[in-house]
Amino acid sequence: MKKYLCLLFVILFSCNNNDENKIAIVIHGGAGIILKENISKSKEDSIINKLDEAISKGWELLKKGESSELAVIETIKILEDSPLFNAGKGSVFNSDGKVENDASIMRGNDLNAGASSGTSNVKNPITLAADVMNHSGHVFLSGKGAESFAKNRNLEIVENEYFHTKFRYNQLLNKKDEDKYGTVGCVAIDIDGNIVAGTSTGGMTNKKWGRIGDSPIIGAGTYADNNTCGISSTGSGEYFIRTVAAYQVSSLLENHDYDLKKAMSKVIHKKIGSIGGDGGMIGIDKNSNISMEFNTPGMYRAYVNKYGEKEILLYEN
Ligand code: ASP
Repeated sequence: MKKYLCLLFVILFSCNNNDENKIAIVIHGGAGIILKENISKSKEDSIINKLDEAISKGWELLKKGESSELAVIETIKILEDSPLFNAGKGSVFNSDGKVENDASIMRGNDLNAGASSGTSNVKNPITLAADVMNHSGHVFLSGKGAESFAKNRNLEIVENEYFHTKFRYNQLLNKKDEDKYGTVGCVAIDIDGNIVAGTSTGGMTNKKWGRIGDSPIIGAGTYADNNTCGISSTGSGEYFIRTVAAYQVSSLLENHDYDLKKAMSKVIHKKIGSIGGDGGMIGIDKNSNISMEFNTPGMYRAYVNKYGEKEILLYEN
């Protein structure tokens, strides 16, 4: 166990049938300047507990034979409802002192996808992205239109103040670099071998002019294809858009015979790193192998792999 590893624990879940060897789930809660010396013990505990709650919820659903789509949505909702992450409740402020959320989801069996950007009153943006995928006939809705669609779908609507936390407001005032990340994402594979990936974020602190990051962009922040893998990204979104990061990993598997770890490593360290971008990604391949890669000091992350082993990690590899 390396120096910066905060916590590593492995729990063997009871495996009663062969199906459980197919299911797997991985989440992230953002990559960035996440250093043990900058995080209090109580905050560290809170983050670990919330990651644990979220990954356990998704794993339990998969174990019951539920779809990876449901597992991803329910897992991300737990992270969106927590003020600890830059998504939903804990989203960062834009330059106007307002919160605007972005989210996306993609299904690997039919390559269907849904995304929303710049919404200011939808409590759980991941549910909006899923409804866009399943009920809008479109892939990507933005701003007021996305909010009207959410209302029509009877999704929970809140005042923008619901998202306002003191912690994030101070970040806006201080324009602090630390802790500005915290996007959340989840990738899961179910007993039918369907891979789903989802991502949700408040974007970047102090973002201006209706800025949209990679998180709601299919191919950059999120991608899933049952023939290759599912990916959710986090980090400096502009770089992930420019490198079509999530799709590029899938393409390396499909067209260049890379395995998931090698493909993610190439995209994060060579493609994104070489043009000055920072961040990370999580993924699951069609054989239920999990990989997590980042070029920042840390990335909040957790998984339960196909052997039923759970790990929760915050700092360096
Ligand atoms: N990728 C997100 C964005 O650029 C931010 C993050 O992941 O921290 O909006």
